[in-house]
Amino acid sequence: MEDKYDVLVVGAGPAGSAAARKCVNGGLKTLLIDKKKLPRRKACSGIIANLSQNYVLENFGPIPESVFGKPYISRGMAFHFPSVGTFFADVDCYMLYVWRDKFDHFLAKTSGAELQDETRFVSLEQKADGVEVTCEQNKSEVKLNVQYVIGADGFNSHVIRNFAPDVYEGLPWAHGVQKYYEGKVDADDRYLYWFLVRGMGPFPWLNIKDDQIIVGLACPVGQNFRAMFNNFLEYLKKNHGLTIKRELATEGCIVNTMTPLNRFFPGRGRVLMAGDSMGLMHQGDEGISCALASGGYAGEAVIQGINKGANTLALYKKLVKPEMETALDQFNPFRMRATAASTSVRQPSMFKGHSFRIKIKALKDAWEFVKSEMVMEGMLPAILKNTARRQILRKYKIPAAE
Ligand SMILES: Cc1cc2nc3c(=O)[nH]c(=O)nc-3n(C[C@H](O)[C@H](O)[C@H](O)COP(=O)(O)OP(=O)(O)OC[C@H]3O[C@@H](n4cnc5c(N)ncnc54)[C@H](O)[C@@H]3O)c2cc1C
Repeated sequence: MEDKYDVLVVGAGPAGSAAARKCVNGGLKTLLIDKKKLPRRKACSGIIANLSQNYVLENFGPIPESVFGKPYISRGMAFHFPSVGTFFADVDCYMLYVWRDKFDHFLAKTSGAELQDETRFVSLEQKADGVEVTCEQNKSEVKLNVQYVIGADGFNSHVIRNFAPDVYEGLPWAHGVQKYYEGKVDADDRYLYWFLVRGMGPFPWLNIKDDQIIVGLACPVGQNFRAMFNNFLEYLKKNHGLTIKRELATEGCIVNTMTPLNRFFPGRGRVLMAGDSMGLMHQGDEGISCALASGGYAGEAVIQGINKGANTLALYKKLVKPEMETALDQFNPFRMRATAASTSVRQPSMFKGHSFRIKIKALKDAWEFVKSEMVMEGMLPAILKNTARRQILRKYKIPAAE
């Protein structure tokens, strides 16, 4: 590793690779680091929505076939309501189904940046004309002086913890864990199932990739994950014929709740944040599209800052504001469908053809579910407040964008 980079990008996920790609295209000497040995696994369903597909095609080229799981495509979401069963919400354009280790490695390699894995961001100090960064590589400390840092190190950002710890004050967290099984289940492998069943956290899900059954849930920190997960397995055994032959793998991470609480963090000074680390997330845990978009905008803002003396952070806030609005839309029941990263505009509503009685029962299930599971400190009031403001005044108030 040399000490002559314009920009350091921390984290070789979709946000970091998009940022790195943009900086390289803008002629900047760019270093992209990741603390893990690459390719690395990531807790994710690996569903690549239309917007993500478009972004990758335009900026990285076609996705190589080697990254796909089977089925190659996901058809949409299946919503399971305990009293009326499962309803399928199809999307217009097939969503691709990938393995994140391979997909992310493809992006990182194609970014064109100098890529250093097993290199951990440790700390930074902002100076008048740049940023002094300390990393750790092969158990040794490495110092770098760069003009800008783009932090793209995921939900639980060490960059934020180091230079802006106030951002996380009072923020509720959840564990996102998924287990892979060999076995059988009554489910269609082209859909991601979301179970609107109480007592299993805000997002109990199931999907199937390469014949592996993937069962996951998001459990608010402080609650009993094991009990919640076993509860979910029992539900699947009883209602969806789940039989488990053996457990194959576990993936997990800690998930922040910045989006529904409208607590985005685009950065401070010469440090810009992108992707999960800035708090961008869509419903159903779709986050790759906004990670790619925000990473690209962060790169664009840095290019303008270095080459044209623009106010980088102000420009980034302006560029990334629509992503924050869309993320809030994704927790607004009136805007959710219209602004999803995979469009379903030409698909009939999932309840089309069903009786009024069924619809009312499903709505009742959904409301009971929201009341019981979206209870993490302040989440439901924040969602209702954002929704009311958008519907009445036609725009959100986003403190981070001001
Ligand atoms: C269970 C689950 C399922 C999901 N399913 C989907 C899905 O199907 N489709 C979808 O679009 N989204 C999905 N998401 C969301 C998606 O995974 C994220 O939104 C996306 O990965 C965000 O990309 P990112 O680049 O911001 O962060 P990440 O992909 O998390 O990348 C961050 C990188 O930073 C590295 N890093 C961390 N700390 C350091 C450090 N100190 N120094 C150096 N490197 C560091 C990490 O190793 C990692 O490689 C899912 C999320 C979860 C939790």
